[in-house]
Amino acid sequence: MVATKSVVIDHTQRDPWSVALEQFGIAADKLHLDPNMRAILAECQRELTVHFPVRMADGVVKVFTGYRVQHNTTRGPGKGGIRYHPSVSLGEVKALAMWMTWKCAVVGIPYGGAKGGVVCDPKTMSQQQLETLTRRYTTEIELLIGPDRDIPAPDVNTNAQTMAWIMDTYSMHHGYTALAVVTGKPLSIGGSEGRNEATARGAVYTIIEASKHLGIDLEGSRVVVQGYGNAGSFSAKLMAELGARVVGVSDTSGGIYSPKGIDPMRVDAYKRETGSVTGFPGTEKLSNAELLELDCDILIPAAIENQIGEHNAPLIKAKIVAEAANGPTSPEADRILFDRGVFLIPDILCNAGGVTVSYFEWVQDLQNLFWREATINARLKEVMVKSFNDVLDMQKKNKVDMRTAAYMVAVARVAEATLTRGIYP
Ligand code: NAD
Repeated sequence: MVATKSVVIDHTQRDPWSVALEQFGIAADKLHLDPNMRAILAECQRELTVHFPVRMADGVVKVFTGYRVQHNTTRGPGKGGIRYHPSVSLGEVKALAMWMTWKCAVVGIPYGGAKGGVVCDPKTMSQQQLETLTRRYTTEIELLIGPDRDIPAPDVNTNAQTMAWIMDTYSMHHGYTALAVVTGKPLSIGGSEGRNEATARGAVYTIIEASKHLGIDLEGSRVVVQGYGNAGSFSAKLMAELGARVVGVSDTSGGIYSPKGIDPMRVDAYKRETGSVTGFPGTEKLSNAELLELDCDILIPAAIENQIGEHNAPLIKAKIVAEAANGPTSPEADRILFDRGVFLIPDILCNAGGVTVSYFEWVQDLQNLFWREATINARLKEVMVKSFNDVLDMQKKNKVDMRTAAYMVAVARVAEATLTRGIYP
């Protein structure tokens, strides 16, 4: 096997809010942003912390903590997912909300940035408890959410069913059905065609544009995907449809590698049957650390944050790193990859297909008029191709890395909107 073994370093995970502020600071410096504007955009506009009781299966009442943060709503209502995880914190939710502001701005959709989360371990909870927790959390954050105000969506450990419960709870309180209060809903209650594949499809549109720019032929190119969930598995399938060879994929239990190529459809079926990608016939097992360092043309991190840091950035062999995941690369690793000539498609651009089709879902709900999947995919492509080229132009003009360029595009748009509206009162 071709992977270079890296020394496993217990690298201290960066606090997401400090990473978000550092990334914003780099773009603000390059833009020579006015200090007043800088101070406004460096803070979250609203941070709501809620504590609420849920009666558990054994009759015991447990008090949960949750958050809903709106970083900025200058360009439109807040938009961002809701995460259920034991490690949710206010700092993490603030960072994710800020990233949503930039993501919506970089693809030019009329939303601000928001995010929510509940500190809980859904793996230990029944469906009934999850429904009760979701309905009570929705009630607590109703101070902020609404179709014109702030529109949640799924994130880690929440899904279309969670969104259905939120939509129903909000609708019950208001006395009418408010489809547009959340996105990522099931199709039967105002969800959108194409939403499941949207993040991967959007990422692949940006990979196609990057390959054109770099002169890489996607036919026969070697692709590695970390994480085989929604974003990762659809990315693998779409890349294979383009004629690329998927040589490695992974999930929490480890990675698999085959230089001859792996059929993503068959891996899907295998994972459904066995619960993991590891052990897939005809492949070699390797660790997630080794997977990232495989010899390949395109690396798609599609799992979790903090995967590429100072310790392994020098060992990445891919020509393109396409961040389907949010926050997989640290600012230190960004600098190393840039110096080594690796072309990085930053998360706020690469995975913005998800929020773009969420926006299409919201538009369809508000109009009560639903589009065909082909229309959605064509509109998504238009948004992603234009956004990629806006960022590439900024990158060329300022000779910066692609993340800084994406931030510069986004921050400049939010700053212009803020200036145009003026400071109230
Ligand atoms: P998911 O839960 O469907 O899939 C995550 C996958 O990653 C799973 O296969 C899991 O086994 C694997 N994984 C978890 N930890 C891992 C690790 N340490 N090493 C290797 N694999 C690991 O989640 P998803 O919706 O596909 O989201 C993945 C990433 O994409 C997240 O960062 C998310 O924020 C981002 N993202 C997703 C969407 C979307 O629409 N789904 C939109 C934007 C961004």
